[in-house]
Amino acid sequence: MAEPQHPPPQRSESREIAELRRLKEAQPDLGSAVDLQIELLQLQRRVQTRVSLPSIKLDRDYLNEQLSSAPVLRFEHLPLDWGDVRFVLRSTASSMRTHEALDSDDFRRVETLCRDTERLPIVVKSWYEAPADASGAVHPDGAGLEAVLLQAMRPFLTKSAEAIMAKTDLSGWTRGTCPLCAGEPDFAVITPAADRVLICGRCLARWRFHQLTCPFCANAERSRITSFASRDGQYRIYACDVCQRYLKAYDARNAGRPVMHAVDSIATLPFDAAAMQRGYK
Ligand SMILES: [Zn+2]
Ligand SMILES: [Zn+2]
Repeated sequence: MAEPQHPPPQRSESREIAELRRLKEAQPDLGSAVDLQIELLQLQRRVQTRVSLPSIKLDRDYLNEQLSSAPVLRFEHLPLDWGDVRFVLRSTASSMRTHEALDSDDFRRVETLCRDTERLPIVVKSWYEAPADASGAVHPDGAGLEAVLLQAMRPFLTKSAEAIMAKTDLSGWTRGTCPLCAGEPDFAVITPAADRVLICGRCLARWRFHQLTCPFCANAERSRITSFASRDGQYRIYACDVCQRYLKAYDARNAGRPVMHAVDSIATLPFDAAAMQRGYK
């Protein structure tokens, strides 16, 4: 058999990047968002290869037990090398600034934060713990920088989440927030079996959730959930008429590839605009 002309991509990121380039060709309007996403993915991949495993006991029984006092992944477990954190934070801010996804004031705030070796861990910790914290507040020095922190912390969070997910049975988890990091889902996938699986917007952990219930406010009244599909049927939106929030989903039932968070969150940007126009947030 002849050697294939192009070797298959070695990493899932490469496949995601190939999909992103296809997306840019098909929808030139998304060009800048795609370019930024590719830069961030490449950066995160580079950092993730040198991130260690989380300092939590990666034992099946132990982890399943921890679900009763979730979130399972505590800040103290995160494998943070502060030199790496500063590097990825600075690089993320710089990419976002180049693509006009961060204004110059916030860019400077990130630079200041990276120079402050005492304050940086405090700010990152407050960002990480905000969803599970009663006040939900991020340290004032990190407030407004959530989008940068989210991208910069992703290699550390996903590395930890992957290691924990491999040994944890999430089938009994029925809440709308992430069992691992307490984050909110920012995407979902409808599986070929018509289940809805939520994807954490921070650590990308996945768990099955009721098909129509709103994960943000638990509204389960069918008549108060507005659901509509994209024209090509590839994506779907679930909008809640109680809390006015919405969730996007990839419909994998008739799709040629699995969901790719990094790709599908960009491909659905026009969908965000449509949902916001209808008054959802
Ligand atoms: Zn999470
Ligand atoms: Zn709701």
